[in-house]
Amino acid sequence: MSRIPVSLDPFLPRALERRWEGEYSGDDLPRLRAASPDGAGIAVRVAFAVVRGPLGEIRWQAEIEGETEQVCQRCLQPMRWQFRLQPDIALVRSDDRSSKLGEDAERLELGADGLLWPAAVVEDEILLTLPLAPRHEQCGADWDREFEPGEGDREAENPFAVLGQLRGKS
Ligand SMILES: [Zn+2]
Repeated sequence: MSRIPVSLDPFLPRALERRWEGEYSGDDLPRLRAASPDGAGIAVRVAFAVVRGPLGEIRWQAEIEGETEQVCQRCLQPMRWQFRLQPDIALVRSDDRSSKLGEDAERLELGADGLLWPAAVVEDEILLTLPLAPRHEQCGADWDREFEPGEGDREAENPFAVLGQLRGKS
């Protein structure tokens, strides 16, 4: 287990089958900090390995675990948002057009420097899963507000809407 470097060349033979581990704060993840309320505590633990996949491709397999804060869109109070992600992504060089990977395979195209910048990739993965309308699981706000008009675009996330659909089917 090694400390995560700022950048690394995942295509070097010595990168294969190694495992890196580290922690990031808001200082390391400025875009996540910008997407969190001011002063939010950001703590992320990361472990990853560079492995060879079934098609000979180089893959980045990571475990990302952590928390930040978001603003609950129901009561507008801060809420803790925890996440646990396990991305498994093929790495391709920017000039590689001979990839055997299918068109829909999840891949990360490296920049012109050919290097993997772990903090940026970890940040991308977290930002992708950031909830659009975060809400407390048990929110103190008045539940009746859910039924005010104009909430239609959020209906898919409304637990009562789901209940209604279930009832409609029975
Ligand atoms: Zn709330």
